[in-house]
Amino acid sequence: MRALYGWSKNIVRKYGWINAIKKLLPKQTKYIYNLGVKFELSDVTVYNPSQLSDGQFLEYSNLSDKQHLREAIKNILIPRVVGTPNHGIVRQYIVQSLRDLDWHVELNGFHDNAPILGALHFTNIIATLNPNAERYLVLACHYDSKYMPGGEEFVGATDSAVPCAMLLNLAKVLQEQLKPLQSSKLSLMLLFFDGEEAFEEWGPKDSIYGARHLAKLWQKEGKLDRIDMLVLLDLLGAPDPAFYSFFSNTEQWYMRMADLETRLSEQHLFERYVNSGVARRDPSRYFQPQALRNSQVEDDHIPFLRRNVPILHLIPMPFPSVWHTTDDNEGVIDYATTNNLALIIRLFTLEYLLGGTKAA
Ligand SMILES: [Zn+2]
Repeated sequence: MRALYGWSKNIVRKYGWINAIKKLLPKQTKYIYNLGVKFELSDVTVYNPSQLSDGQFLEYSNLSDKQHLREAIKNILIPRVVGTPNHGIVRQYIVQSLRDLDWHVELNGFHDNAPILGALHFTNIIATLNPNAERYLVLACHYDSKYMPGGEEFVGATDSAVPCAMLLNLAKVLQEQLKPLQSSKLSLMLLFFDGEEAFEEWGPKDSIYGARHLAKLWQKEGKLDRIDMLVLLDLLGAPDPAFYSFFSNTEQWYMRMADLETRLSEQHLFERYVNSGVARRDPSRYFQPQALRNSQVEDDHIPFLRRNVPILHLIPMPFPSVWHTTDDNEGVIDYATTNNLALIIRLFTLEYLLGGTKAA
């Protein structure tokens, strides 16, 4: 009796009263019958990795390669309109950078017709650490740049050279830490969409060519269920970005980003934080503690969102003032902000993929 008492006391301590009672009761398997077939019901286990421990947090926070991030930005920061030689150069740079880091890279090519330029060949880049994983956290951006009708030089620093460089930099900086994901069931995918930009006027047939193609293809192939969440990075690199939670089903993950920002700021692990003074508003934070539910931001996530893939959209609101102008060039890049955001995204990725799991 005493032994039993001690045993049950331990269970209570470990699981709390309600869960302790559940643990002590015999497990009841529930079944449902449908058309003569017996289905076993089990509780839904919500994937909920634990926060990084203080030790992990400090260790991972100190990992960075700012020089590499600058170089990666420089390599992508050329006009790279779909179908031009530069577009191929940037694609090859992304592919080779990831292959050099031991990533499995697949090219998803297809043809589509675009206004002004006509028949074009588009290529999405799909990079995975484990091509046979059951599920993926997907980090995505687009690598094409906008076609300017007047022939002006548009290099799209925030749109989206910086986001692409952040993903390459993440692969480089976390090369060692991500190694276990080469054989894990839940792994990481980096997705570089082609043809995000419209050629004439943004519309359902003239924009997000690559994302539309891939979402449709993966739906047909039954692969969309393998995406835990698609985190889309866009228009990053300018000073003073403000992010909001757009979707309730990923709000807990948005809050993880916000928590990581708080944790880093409290431990003074950011570069010049937070306001550059450019936006001339009160010093703020990047991840706002507010939701923006009815925003109609059209971006590469839309074809996936419509097919019920959970989306976390990291796009500042409002957009950078240089958006779709030739001023979206190296001059607008705030490297302190860029490094800070890259750090938050790296920690988020590690927490999501390597944090200890527990049922919610
Ligand atoms: Zn754009």
